[in-house]
Amino acid sequence: MTVTMPKRSSLDLIGNTPLALLKGPSETAGCEIWGKCEFANPGASVKDRAALWIVRDAEAKGTLKPGGTIVEGTAGNTGIGLALVGNALGYKTVIVMPETQSREKMDTLRALGAELVLVPAAPFSNPGHFVHTSRRIAEETEGAIWANQFDNIANRKAHIESTAPELWEQLEGRIDGFTCAAGTGGTIAGTGMGLKAFDENITIALTDPYGAALYNYYAHGELKAEGSSVAEGIGQGRITANLEGAPIDTQFRISDEEGLEWVRRLLSEEGLCLGLSSGINVAGAVMLGKQLGPGSRVATILCDTGFRYLSSLYNPAWLETKGLPVFPWLAS
Ligand code: PMP
Repeated sequence: MTVTMPKRSSLDLIGNTPLALLKGPSETAGCEIWGKCEFANPGASVKDRAALWIVRDAEAKGTLKPGGTIVEGTAGNTGIGLALVGNALGYKTVIVMPETQSREKMDTLRALGAELVLVPAAPFSNPGHFVHTSRRIAEETEGAIWANQFDNIANRKAHIESTAPELWEQLEGRIDGFTCAAGTGGTIAGTGMGLKAFDENITIALTDPYGAALYNYYAHGELKAEGSSVAEGIGQGRITANLEGAPIDTQFRISDEEGLEWVRRLLSEEGLCLGLSSGINVAGAVMLGKQLGPGSRVATILCDTGFRYLSSLYNPAWLETKGLPVFPWLAS
């Protein structure tokens, strides 16, 4: 057993997450499927990395000064990461979100000390959209920066500099494929770029949910969305700055039902309680593993903890309203 070295700063707890061999997915794929346990970050998601790199980048550029404010439009994990990093470094955080978001998320962000600004839900083309509102608040607030996770490439740099080298080291340089879904695209683009720098033969695959436009873009060169998904944090309709130049070799499209089936199996068979984007990633990893064949090694991202979705994915009434299957142990 190797022991993790003690940390001198709470910020050093971000990243260096464990990597676990996933038994059921490996058996189904006929090869090794590994899951990067991003729920082990202090904010319980992969977005702590982006939050830390965005803040450090703004400090290095001199735009974020001591006592300053970080503003972002986000409904979830990035806001949680920014609030925690902000607390650790003495910055205020202002999080703008649509008022349609779950009570859980609002309560969590408030509990962490972020200032919440709620705006009516609106299309991206509407200036009142939460992302545009957050940019305006940042512009109007003295000493504030706009984190801008979608188009700020400090986000993908986090994965070039941390996620990819960690995977390479943890798998001792023997990795044949990597796949995950895209929200901002920071994880897939940055981890893909970082892994290709170690070995350009590693296959990088995008795993897209329905309702997103990237599957069609990488498969047919057309940004076109089909269907829908209830997965939070993933499902992109445009090529963000983080996605520009992403080394995507192949792509899969995964339904919510397929993703949920892996969420169910990973919890009931392996004791991992995860969100839906993790299940969708694992479904994609199994497809990639089958393509790459026996003996291959595939890694994916277990993006966040399922504890964040008790009122949705783990709530029979909610699942029924979405027409999705209820986990057997929750069905009355
Ligand atoms: N899963 C979850 C639960 C997320 O919150 C996010 C971030 N939006 C992602 C996956 C995707 O990560 P990225 O923004 O790096 O594409």
